[in-house]
Amino acid sequence: MTLTLDLTSAQTRAALGAHMRTPEKPSLVGLTRDEMAEALAVAGIPERQRRMRVQQLWHWLYVRGVSDFSQMFNISKDLRAELDRHFTVARPEVVEEQISNDGTRKWLFRFPPRGAGRPVEVETVYIPEEGRGTLCISSQVGCTLTCSFCHTGTQKLVRNLTAEEILAQLLTARDRLGDFPDRDTPDGAIVPAEGRKVSNIVMMGMGEPLYNFEHVKKALLIASDGDGLSLSKRRITLSTSGVVPEIARTGDEIGVMLAISLHAVRDDLRDMLVPINKKYPLEALMDACRNYPGLSNARRITFEYVMLRDVNDSLDDAKELVRLLRGIPAKINLIPFNPWPGTNYQCSEWETIEKFADYINQAGYASPIRTPRGRDILAACGQLKSESERMRKSERLALEAMMIAGHGEA
Ligand code: SAH
Ligand code: SF4
Repeated sequence: MTLTLDLTSAQTRAALGAHMRTPEKPSLVGLTRDEMAEALAVAGIPERQRRMRVQQLWHWLYVRGVSDFSQMFNISKDLRAELDRHFTVARPEVVEEQISNDGTRKWLFRFPPRGAGRPVEVETVYIPEEGRGTLCISSQVGCTLTCSFCHTGTQKLVRNLTAEEILAQLLTARDRLGDFPDRDTPDGAIVPAEGRKVSNIVMMGMGEPLYNFEHVKKALLIASDGDGLSLSKRRITLSTSGVVPEIARTGDEIGVMLAISLHAVRDDLRDMLVPINKKYPLEALMDACRNYPGLSNARRITFEYVMLRDVNDSLDDAKELVRLLRGIPAKINLIPFNPWPGTNYQCSEWETIEKFADYINQAGYASPIRTPRGRDILAACGQLKSESERMRKSERLALEAMMIAGHGEA
């Protein structure tokens, strides 16, 4: 059974004690140390105090996870009031929280308008696994690219998310999971990072992260900073459809793990499935991967490969894949296609996926088949779409019928 909580009523919000942000004030979340110091200058904090205040604020925001200045006990009441006059540290509105029968959770967050724009809604998914938990974060609302098998690709780009909004997905998910154990320790002790519910993050939600490079970079550098959210860069994966010119910068400037949405091993087919291939074809993409900064057998690139029936799932494709990846420290992630209403694709037969995986394994590659998770709440890859283009009920029923009929079910 799927559990859906309606979090829109004022009562529910009050019960949750959520501090929702108001649109007028700028947020202190997502700023680099220098940017925060500049912001504090505007609020009249004397220069000699700024570095210390930045340190305190980072600690409260990212280690303790507070969302209200009043909880920052080592800052004087007057200063807290002054900060509150100028800034916010509040969370986005949690419009909806869905909990799948397999423990997967999906949230719909609403962010206030920027300038003359409208509020935007963003989906974030949490996938708990044995001994770890992965948060799938969005980088844009919609996507400018139009990969033909991806539901997000049918939605127009609404806008890039800011560093604040990218980080807010992580902070709010951890709130909802009770994953800020440091917030309430009586003696102020820091709880070791090992036991965290969100142990890994993947930039695999809505959008193409490398088309929003600066904001994604800022957010991930705070997520991995020892004084920020302290996630190891090895536990952060950025997935790209293949924006070749930004790949080297991703390694140099962000230093996180890279995943490539490959999906096809020949240019003619990849042009159709992942149209950015027309701009940056396979040869250029493979070169960029081969030269990815920090690449080694211990730090491999993950190649994502969606299994589409009779499209890219033959043994010849598997052979060509092995040939293409020669010399690149790689992992291959086979993803059973998740169907959505209106798509012409179907998921490969399970037997075909296994044969494909066997061939790749024999060639020496780890090639886990991604287990479909959270399908009952449409939390799977490629199904994220914001409220601005939410599925109509008839579409939902059609999808359920497809899944019951076993199409695309792995
Ligand atoms: N834009 C980035 C990251 C978001 S998509 C990218 O394309 O890499 C995250 C992953 O989900 C990608 O590998 C994407 O190809 C895959 N995906 C999209 N739609 C899917 C679907 N319907 N079924 C299975 N995987 C899908
Ligand atoms: Fe955009 Fe990635 Fe979907 Fe392609 S697969 S349309 S790049 S979100």
